[in-house]
Amino acid sequence: MVPNQKVILPLLEEKEVNLYIKREDMLHPHVSGNKYRKLKYNLIEAEKLGCSNLLTFGGAFSNHIAATAFAGNKAGFKTIGVIRGEELQNSWKQNPTLKLAHEMGMKFHFISRSTFRLKESDSFLKELRDTFGDFYLLPEGGTNPPAIKGCEEILVEADSNFDHICCSVGAGGTIAGIINSSKPEQSILGFPSLKGNFLKQDIRKFARKDNWDLITDYHFGGYAKVDAELVDFINDFKSKTNIPLDPIYTGKMLFGILDLVKKGFFKPNTRILAIHTGGLQGIKGMNLVLKKKELPILDL
Ligand SMILES: *Cc1c(COP(=O)(O)O)cnc(C)c1O
Repeated sequence: MVPNQKVILPLLEEKEVNLYIKREDMLHPHVSGNKYRKLKYNLIEAEKLGCSNLLTFGGAFSNHIAATAFAGNKAGFKTIGVIRGEELQNSWKQNPTLKLAHEMGMKFHFISRSTFRLKESDSFLKELRDTFGDFYLLPEGGTNPPAIKGCEEILVEADSNFDHICCSVGAGGTIAGIINSSKPEQSILGFPSLKGNFLKQDIRKFARKDNWDLITDYHFGGYAKVDAELVDFINDFKSKTNIPLDPIYTGKMLFGILDLVKKGFFKPNTRILAIHTGGLQGIKGMNLVLKKKELPILDL
């Protein structure tokens, strides 16, 4: 079980808000916290079905690709990563995420962005089966019923004394699991790291309670969009609390939580538990992008 770490900052003391972080990032150095949760029951299912190959999709810095490579390797599966971007064919060795995934035995199949959009069509999946043989398909973002079941294990009984549970949101599977295992009197706040209104519907497909809401003001322009203010925030947070955050998900969520605290959104004596879903493997890759854009980089 991972610890809930208390965050100590003058702002929190001043506003009398208690903030704890569930350090799911500590589950594994490379397998991002919630991606590990999402894989657990999928790997059990694949084994039951007698599949020895796992196939999945992702972008070049994907936490899901990294997690599948590591967890698959450890559980004795062969892994195939279908990666967005044909141009990576020749340059993937310079990409820290793909380099590590390759070292864990993952085979890559690079496809164009337009093919990637159709990746879950029957005809494309058939093409993949003709090329790689039979496989267990892990959806991109990893959201399916076994993944939700894994995310239902993030909260434990001892967490029931928190008023709010905060969680970053990509495809929405993680928050759905958290909602399902929360107490009805708790409030679950999701912080999407991308723009779009489709998310609520996606979450409703899997969530069995209504005690949640999305705070949509902290996506910083969209998925994988990062600016100097966010980088400075993450570096400052780490130097003051010793807790590293990732730039795509948890950094945006913590920025949002502290901004809401500043604005008086939470009453005095409120107890907040923020889930650190991991994602730290992506920092090195993001720094390559930030350097190119001449933005400040993240401290390692
Ligand atoms: C994928 C991911 C999320 C988002 O999870 P969803 O289930 O897609 O909403 C949040 N944090 C990190 C670190 C992730 O890798």
